Amino acid sequence: MSKKFKKETIAAKAGVGSDKQHGAIIPPLYLTSNFKYGEVGEAQEYEYTRQSNPTRDHLINALAELESGLGGEILSSGMAAITLVANILENKSRVIVPHDCYGGTFRLFSSLAHKGVLEVYFINQSQKSFCKEIISEINPDLIWIETPSNPLLQAVDIQRISEQAKICNSLVAVDNTFLSPSLQNPLKLGADIVMHSTTKYINGHSDVIGGAVITNNHEILSKLKFWANTLGITGSPFDSYLTLRGLRTLNIRMKEHEKNAVAIVELLSNHPLVGNIYYPGLPDHPSHAIAKKQQSGFGGMLSFELNKDFSKVKKFIKAVKILPLAASLGGFESLISHPYSMTHGELTADQKKEIGISKNLIRISAGLENTDDLLDVIKKALK
Ligand SMILES: *Cc1c(COP(=O)(O)O)cnc(C)c1O
Repeated sequence: MSKKFKKETIAAKAGVGSDKQHGAIIPPLYLTSNFKYGEVGEAQEYEYTRQSNPTRDHLINALAELESGLGGEILSSGMAAITLVANILENKSRVIVPHDCYGGTFRLFSSLAHKGVLEVYFINQSQKSFCKEIISEINPDLIWIETPSNPLLQAVDIQRISEQAKICNSLVAVDNTFLSPSLQNPLKLGADIVMHSTTKYINGHSDVIGGAVITNNHEILSKLKFWANTLGITGSPFDSYLTLRGLRTLNIRMKEHEKNAVAIVELLSNHPLVGNIYYPGLPDHPSHAIAKKQQSGFGGMLSFELNKDFSKVKKFIKAVKILPLAASLGGFESLISHPYSMTHGELTADQKKEIGISKNLIRISAGLENTDDLLDVIKKALK
């Protein structure tokens, strides 16, 4: 497909009408482990599904186009996607990872460091000295970025970090899960690799675990393909089929997620029981300017603190009945979570304090419910 289409069209058109056998409008689901050879010794497009599969290709081609990349791989989870990136590095590579990264990312990189596979530096990438002094001092092979962060939605400047990385000959990989390709395109900002947990916004229906890695560099792409097949972590055709189905409506969903998040933030902003609110769309959020510069929206995630003792925080969470207490995000259904005991439960009290996660902090993934219904439920729970 031509590169000139806009995001909505790319998602709507992906693979549509490509079936040569029966002219099916929707590309068929190829539930097959292997493919027949023609002649002996004749190369063919598909051989074995661990390596490649037409259904998975429709999804990765659409994602690569949405991210302005050359291509990539679909993996069995977001963690498999991060594992894949870690595996294209040479042994003892030096990697900078955000100190407040996703818990699974922290577990993977710290375990690889513990085994001596990689040299990993967990760094606060928001600090002033990060871009020049710290990057040149560490002289990394890979800088892992996750922006905006979970759950305080701190953004770091992808373009600035990528410029500095080029000087040090370092790769830059960005976990773009929180915004999806609809709202942020790291490759266009100078990154080499973009990674997604497609479990979240891209699939959007909370029924598939999946991941994706996309690049704009031929050499990286061939390493990704080699290691995805070698490790055996590619995504299943059925999961890819469902995820492509979700992707069709990604752009329109992101607008609604953001609309509901903004409405909730407005309600909370005027409430006496609410303390700090973390939403990058607010002009006083520390990352407002960076988010405005590199994102095409502020997204559907928000966090806030209640000015009450912890028993009241628990009571509030219980009272917002239509929002289940759950750690995931990015689905059509709104979810509420308590980072202190859930996503960040494994950290020590000191570590939580250092990255700003208090016991009174509540995170909401705004879903696609009617805005007034959501506001009513939250208003009543605050009462
Ligand atoms: C969920 C998540 C992951 C891990 O993805 P899985 O699909 O759960 O393996 C990685 N990064 C971020 C930011 C996530 O939210």
